[in-house]
Amino acid sequence: MNYKIALIKGDGIGPEVVGEAVKVMDAIGERFGHTFEYTDVLMGGCAVDAVGKSYPDGTAEKCKACDAVLLGAVGGPKWGHSTNPDRRPETALLSIRKDLELYANLRPAALRPALAESCPLKNDEGIDLIIVRELTGGIYFGKRERYTTEDRGEEAADRMAYSEKEIERIGRRAFELARLRRKKLASVDKANVLETSRLWRQVMHRLAEEYSDVQYEDVLVDNAAMQLVRDPGQFDVVVTENMFGDILSDEASMITGSIGLLPSASIGDASPGLYEPIHGSAPDIAGQDKANPIATILSVAMMFRYSFDLPAEAEAVERAVDAVLNEGWRTADIAKSGETSVGTVKMGELIRGKL
Ligand code: NAD
Repeated sequence: MNYKIALIKGDGIGPEVVGEAVKVMDAIGERFGHTFEYTDVLMGGCAVDAVGKSYPDGTAEKCKACDAVLLGAVGGPKWGHSTNPDRRPETALLSIRKDLELYANLRPAALRPALAESCPLKNDEGIDLIIVRELTGGIYFGKRERYTTEDRGEEAADRMAYSEKEIERIGRRAFELARLRRKKLASVDKANVLETSRLWRQVMHRLAEEYSDVQYEDVLVDNAAMQLVRDPGQFDVVVTENMFGDILSDEASMITGSIGLLPSASIGDASPGLYEPIHGSAPDIAGQDKANPIATILSVAMMFRYSFDLPAEAEAVERAVDAVLNEGWRTADIAKSGETSVGTVKMGELIRGKL
């Protein structure tokens, strides 16, 4: 098969980690008989420098002409001060999610066996969970207001709204995903306080009847935050709304040790999925061959699994990563003090060597 992939290398370490991921894709192509065709798409700070806008005209169209998008990272101090939204890299991230209608954000937090001891928490049963965050609704997309009243002075308000349809489509994604894994789903809400959460729970309960083979539970968000630290091994798939997911997925990622290891996927129904490491552009180590490419390489495994339905290829990548880590190879971010480490390019080469 031939697959077209849009590459948004972006800023900072983005081009370095995407470069290694592309070499891994090519190695998989060779082994499994696929070809991958790449289209470079300019977005982020580098696009501000080149054409004056972080999200140049036609970006979404170029991505839509491909089967999937691989993103490195965008942003950096050079562009962080601009007050013009067109020149801010974050604007591009929100725009592409909206234009490609990527309403489901999948963030796995799996503790790689070789790194189990670097996990600060109790993990007797291992940690392998995935957070499904609703990405295009809720408070981040609601009306924002600032106003002054005579008795209370200046006030601000952010509206949080969810429709039954929005909840149902993310809920279905989560139940379907649970079916492919250990068949457990925790839905996180704040139904003891918020009306949006009460609707969320109502829709989820309806779906739970339909997906009766999946073990379902409701968890209040404050309890979820606590349980993630107390006993993360209890979770398989966790589904939640946009803001709760934003916070909980960062919390979950920290329990696995390094930001340089974790991939993510953002998917919709019709457009190509977007795959990216959870980390940013790491300007402090950019251009120094220090970045860990594993998060981006594991994002490619997610692309194989969720966009191309190539589970064997996805597993081959994941196994290669684990094999290299099991042999004791580390990049600086995951090396213990005194341990020697390898650079971005060498780590990529080692992983390809296991394919
Ligand atoms: P960051 O993730 O870039 O870096 C945080 C720390 O983790 C740094 O010390 C960095 O060196 C380290 N780190 C990150 N990735 C690593 C890797 N692969 N290997 C080794 N070490 C790694 O977060 P930040 O410093 O808060 O943000 C830097 C820039 O990235 C900002 O402009 C921010 O807006 C942007 N950002 C972009 C995205 C994205 O493109 N999706 C996500 C987060 C942050």
